[in-house]
Amino acid sequence: MKTTNTMTLIRSLDKAMMENLKVYRNGSVGSEQNFVVVNHENVDAYEVTANNGIITGCTCPHAFHRNAVCKHQIKTSLVHSMDIQQLRQ
Ligand SMILES: [Zn+2]
Repeated sequence: MKTTNTMTLIRSLDKAMMENLKVYRNGSVGSEQNFVVVNHENVDAYEVTANNGIITGCTCPHAFHRNAVCKHQIKTSLVHSMDIQQLRQ
């Protein structure tokens, strides 16, 4: 069965809500801010990037290779009240 973008988004939303992800600030350079999102077992850590308060990407394979809105971006969005660029288009 083909996976639609909507299904992918709902799955990421679900994971962002259910999993105990932690978001840490990882500094900023100019208008760019970086966050590190770590899962509850501290085994996965991915970097979420924002520009001018808008989330622009994540280093996880889901976002980087498939261009999906991943749970890391959604979690960062929820914690820091920031929009996700991909959802604004
Ligand atoms: Zn991600």
